Parts: sequence; C-alpha cells; structure tokens
Amino acid sequence: MEEEGIERVLEKYRKAGKILAGVREEAIAKVKEGVLLVEVAEFVEQRIRERGGEPAFPCNISLNEEAAHATPSMDDTRVFGNELVKIDIGVHVDGYIGDSAVTVDLSGEHEELVRVSEAALNEAIKIIRDGVSTIEIGEVIEHTIREQGYRPVVNLSGHGLARYNSHAPPTIPNVRYEHGVLLSENDVVAIEPFATDGAGKVVESGTVEIYGLIKAKPVRVTEAKKLMEAIKSYQGLPFAKRWLPRERLDLALRTLKNAGALREYPVLREEEKGVISQAEHTVIVTKDGCEVTTQ
Ligand code: MN
Ligand code: MN
Repeated sequence: MEEEGIERVLEKYRKAGKILAGVREEAIAKVKEGVLLVEVAEFVEQRIRERGGEPAFPCNISLNEEAAHATPSMDDTRVFGNELVKIDIGVHVDGYIGDSAVTVDLSGEHEELVRVSEAALNEAIKIIRDGVSTIEIGEVIEHTIREQGYRPVVNLSGHGLARYNSHAPPTIPNVRYEHGVLLSENDVVAIEPFATDGAGKVVESGTVEIYGLIKAKPVRVTEAKKLMEAIKSYQGLPFAKRWLPRERLDLALRTLKNAGALREYPVLREEEKGVISQAEHTVIVTKDGCEVTTQ
C-alpha cells in the first residue's frame, strides 16, 4: 500500500472529527426521558453514514454506574428515565478515527460531576503540545478531579489512535503514574477523563453487546463462516451484536469466540456502583499545542 502523506492523513482525521462533532450535538438533543436507547444509538450510527463517515465502534450509551462498552441490544426496550447518560461516539474516514464522548444529566442531580470531567479534559488539552509527557497529562486530570472531591477512574484511560485502530499506544492515564511517554507533533490521541463518587475503579459486568475480530480463523459451522465474512468488513474495529445477521447468531458468535477469533467487550461498571461522568475529545498534537478534531 502506498504511504499517504501526513497532510492527507490529518485531513481525514479532521473530517472524521467534524462529522462526529455534528452528530454528537444531534445525539444530545435526542437524549430525553421516554426515548428508546436503541433509537438514539441507531440514529447516531445512521447520521455518521449520512454525513460521509463510518462508525468506528458502536454508539456507546452508558447509564449511571456504567462507564463504557454498553450499547443497546437488538430488541432493547429500555427508555431513558432520570439517569446520568454517557454517549461515546466513534467515526472513521478511511480508517482514520475521531473519538468523543459527552455526559448528559437527565437526573438534574449530578451537574458538578459532569463539570468535573469536562474541566479535567479542558485542563489536559491546555498542556498538550509536542514533548508533553503522559505523566503530566495524568497528573493534571487527577488533580482537577480530586480538587472537587471526586475520584478519577484509575483503570480507564485515554489512548492513541491509528488507522483502523481505536485503541493504539500510548496509554494516557487519568491519574499520575511513574512511567509515561512523550507525545510528538502529529500524534493523534483521545483524552477521556472519567470521574466518579464511587471507588474510582471499574469492573467487568456480565453483559456483552460489543465484539471485535482478533484474527480470522478457519471454522466449519456454516453460520460462523458467514458471520466471519460479515465482520471482516469492520477491519478489526469493534462492532455491535445488533449489527449482525440474526440467523443462529448466538451459535455463530460462540463458535468464533471458541475458535479464538473474537474478543468480547463486557460492559464496565463502577466497582462500588458510584455514578460516573465522562468527557472525551480527539486531538492532533502540534508544535505549540494541539488541535481538537472533535470540537
Ligand atoms: Mn470514546
Ligand atoms: Mn476513547
């Protein structure tokens, strides 16, 4: 494959970010009491395509103590009530990804918690430039959240983005760690502080609605073969169970999982069932600062 020039690559990251920003605002307007969660998720994914992108992962809708990897199931009957709602959206253009999340407070009780993850994101963005250490970023996020009396979620972090890779190195922690790496000009990274009134740690719950292809493997079961073909089109990016053909789907998924072809993404929730807020943007690192692609 011909190596693309950096400017052409960055233009695709910008395009993905711009599509995302528009869809995110449309999604916020749709999150209202009584609306089906699955309606919002499908709306987001459809609007991404209508605006000229592709979903980089299923629209995540995480409620209250849920932090990530939650997306409605195909027959989901849940409607929004008075929850704290995180909407996390991924868009790619030719594999180049924008990743951004926002918290919508339908409870009216968690404004401060929502503001604190936004503030942590803003403070992190202010210090990002060529040569900044991920240690400094983690430190400023942790400090901003703790200063307001909340806890950062220690085992969720920001990350790099690469072509068809929604979680590339480096890890960008939400707390100060001993070891880190320096960011360089033209690195594309997602910064995503999570704040909570709970323990500050997430654990896996039993629910799985999101999967990813690890590696194509030979399988004999017809349904599994068909499913393998269908998921190759996601190029290794995460996909939702509700995107897949329904026919004997559980058997097909189980077969691929047992063959070592599939990775599951169980819903992550706060260990003490604390309420979690999240804010996220994707940025391109520049000489003197950074460019937020998802604003
Ligand atoms: Mn995200
Ligand atoms: Mn992310």
